[in-house]
Amino acid sequence: MNGTDCKSPRCTALVGEVGSTVHCSIYEKRSSPCREFEASWENGEQNVDCDKARARFGLPPLQSDWAEIPFDKSA
Ligand code: SF4
Repeated sequence: MNGTDCKSPRCTALVGEVGSTVHCSIYEKRSSPCREFEASWENGEQNVDCDKARARFGLPPLQSDWAEIPFDKSA
């Protein structure tokens, strides 16, 4: 989570372009706060902190059916 406690937060472990394609470069070794943070609707409940984080990058809140949408691995 280095880099997330500053004016323009961005974790140094995040690779890629937000809003396009990103991934966590230390996913298997990520800290407990990262493991405990759930995306909005991941388990049927909205997470306003997820919505706020997305909004900081100009992204809309996730919709409740996002997890049911097939992931396009070719993109
Ligand atoms: S999940 Fe990975 S990229 Fe996201 S904040 Fe945690 S360490 Fe950074």
